[in-house]
Amino acid sequence: MNAIFLYYLYSLVLLAGPQDLSPADTLLVAGHVLTMDESWTVHSPGAVAVKDGVVAAVGPEAVVRGRFAARATIEARDAVLLPGLVNAHTHAPMTLFRGFADGLPLEAWLTTKIFPAESCGVTEESVRCGTRVALAEMARTGTTTFCDMYYFEDVVAEETIRAGLRGVLGSTVIGFPVPDAPDVAAALARAERFLEAHATSPLVVPAVAPHSTYTLDVETLKRCRALADRFGAPLLIHLSETKAEVEDVRTRFGRTPIAHAESIGLFSGGRTVAAHCVHPTAEEIAILARRGVGVGHCPESNMKLGSGVAPVPALLRAGVAVGLGTDGAASNDDLDLFEEIDTAAKLQKVAALDPTALDARAAVAMATIGGARALGLGERIGSIEEGKAADLVLLGGSGRAGLVPMGDPYSFVAYVAKGSDVKLTMVAGRVVYRDGETTTVDVAAAARDAVRWRERIEAAMSSSGGAEARIDVTWTGGFAPHVESRLVASSRGFVVRLTRGGPSGDVWEKFGADGAAIRALAEKLRTSGFEALGGKLSRPKDMVVMDAPSESWRLLIGSTTAGLEVEPGGQLGAGYPAWLRETRDALSKLAMGTPAERGEGDPPADLGVDLAGSR
Ligand SMILES: [Zn+2]
Repeated sequence: MNAIFLYYLYSLVLLAGPQDLSPADTLLVAGHVLTMDESWTVHSPGAVAVKDGVVAAVGPEAVVRGRFAARATIEARDAVLLPGLVNAHTHAPMTLFRGFADGLPLEAWLTTKIFPAESCGVTEESVRCGTRVALAEMARTGTTTFCDMYYFEDVVAEETIRAGLRGVLGSTVIGFPVPDAPDVAAALARAERFLEAHATSPLVVPAVAPHSTYTLDVETLKRCRALADRFGAPLLIHLSETKAEVEDVRTRFGRTPIAHAESIGLFSGGRTVAAHCVHPTAEEIAILARRGVGVGHCPESNMKLGSGVAPVPALLRAGVAVGLGTDGAASNDDLDLFEEIDTAAKLQKVAALDPTALDARAAVAMATIGGARALGLGERIGSIEEGKAADLVLLGGSGRAGLVPMGDPYSFVAYVAKGSDVKLTMVAGRVVYRDGETTTVDVAAAARDAVRWRERIEAAMSSSGGAEARIDVTWTGGFAPHVESRLVASSRGFVVRLTRGGPSGDVWEKFGADGAAIRALAEKLRTSGFEALGGKLSRPKDMVVMDAPSESWRLLIGSTTAGLEVEPGGQLGAGYPAWLRETRDALSKLAMGTPAERGEGDPPADLGVDLAGSR
C-alpha cells in the first residue's frame, strides 16, 4: 500500500516535470520536523521549503519534494528540524561579565558587582563587542530571536541586524545614572529616539525597558507605558524576581510588584513582557493572564542567584504565555537555550516532587512558540507553518554517540541535545550558523575584543588596578551645595548626584563661569559630605557625578573608572570650558576608550591633570 502510494507520488512528480514545480530557495529535509503548531504536528521524515525568507511549505518529505524545486537542499535524515529558539529574556552585552560574580543573591550581585562593573565597563564599544559575542553564541546554539534589555540598545540593534538575528530590543530606563543616560529624562529621550529609528525594521522590534518596579518611581513607569503605547511598542520589565524584591516593593508601595504594576496601569495598553515572575501571588497570576502579559521564565538564572522556582505550571494553566530566557550571561553563565529547556522541565519536577509537573514537549514549546507568544510575535515566528518566517534549527545528526538512539524527538530536544549539537541555524531564510561556522559574525575577532574588554573592566574594578585615572582637586573656597546624595553602587563607593540648582541657583552659574566653583564643590564633598556616607569617597580616585545647569551638562569630576560620559550622548556642549574638555578627554583615553584610543600599553598610573592650574 505504502509502496504503491509512493510510486503514485513519484509518477505525479515525473508527470508534473520540473517546470511545474514551484521554485524555492532552500529545501530542508530532516528525520523529524517538529512544527510546534497548534496540533503538535510532527513529520517523520519531513521537509520544509523556504522561499523569500518565509516557510513556503512544511509536510512529509515526499509531499514537499513533489511541489518544490529548490536551489539548495539540506538533508539530515538523522536530525530534528524545529523552529528557531526564542530567548524571552536576556542582556546580550553582558557576555562581557560571564563568570564575573558567583555565589551572591540578586541584590548583592547587582549592587556590589554588576552595577559597579557596568558603571565603569559599559560603553558603546564594549556593548558592541559583548553583543557580537552573544550573537555568535546564540546563532551557534540555535537561538534565532532574543528579547533584550540593556544600555546603548541602538548598538545592540545595529549588531543584531548585521548578524541577521531577530530581536525584541528594549532601551533601558532605570532610576539612577547609567552609562547611556545620566537620568530618567535622558533615558526616556534615548528610548524614544530608538523607537523612532527602528519603527519599520524587519528584524528588530524596538521596545521600552523600564528596569523594574524597585528601581523606578511610579511616575517614570507611567511615562514608559505611555511612550511604548505611542509607538505601539512592547514594554519589557523585570517583575517579582526575588522575595527581597517583593518585600521591598510591598514596603514602599503597599503592594507586591505585579499588583503594584497593575495598580498604576502598567499593563493597561500594549504588550508587556515580564521577566522572571518567580514569586507571584495567585491574584497576580490572574492579573498576568487577564492582561496578556508575556512571561520570560529564566530557570538557570533563578537557580544560580538563589531566587526561587517560578510557578510555571500554574502560569501555563492560567493561560499566561510563558517563554524561556537565559537572562544575561553573568547570571547563567551561557546563552544556550537547550540547557534552559532541560532545566526548566527538571526544575518543576524536583520542586513538585512530581515527574509529570512539566513535560519535555511543554518545555520545548516554551522555548519556541511560547516565547514567540510571550513577545507578541506568535503570528510571525515560533512554529514551522506556511507563511511564517523561516527561522529554523537543525539539531543533532551524524550518528554521534550521546545522540543515538533518538527515541521521542521532544524528549531528545529537551533532555539529550545541547546547543553544541546544532547543525544549522537559519533566520528569515538566511543561514547564520552551519557546521561549526558562524557565518555572519567574525567570532575570532569578537572573542579577542571581549577578552581585552574584560581585562580592562577588571583592572578598573580592582582598587590597585592599572587603569586608574586620578585627579587631585584643590579646595579654594567654600559654599554648601544642595546635594541629593544617593547610593548608586560604584565600585569606588558612591556616585553622588547633585540636583539642579539650589534655592539660590548660583551654584550652577558659578560652575558655568568658573572652574574654581566646581573644584570647591568637589573638595567640599570629598572632605565633608562623603565622610558622612562612610568616608568611601575620601580618596581622590572616587567618583562624583554632577548635573550641571543645562540639560546637556554633566561632569564626572574624579574617577578611577571609565567611559566618562560627560553628558548624554557623549558630546561636549559648546559652552564647555576648555579645562573640562581636556580633563574629560584625558580620562576617556586613559580609562575605557576604544582599543585604538587606548593603545596596547598600560596606562599611566596618574593622569597628571591639574585642575587647579588649568582653567
Ligand atoms: Zn534580567
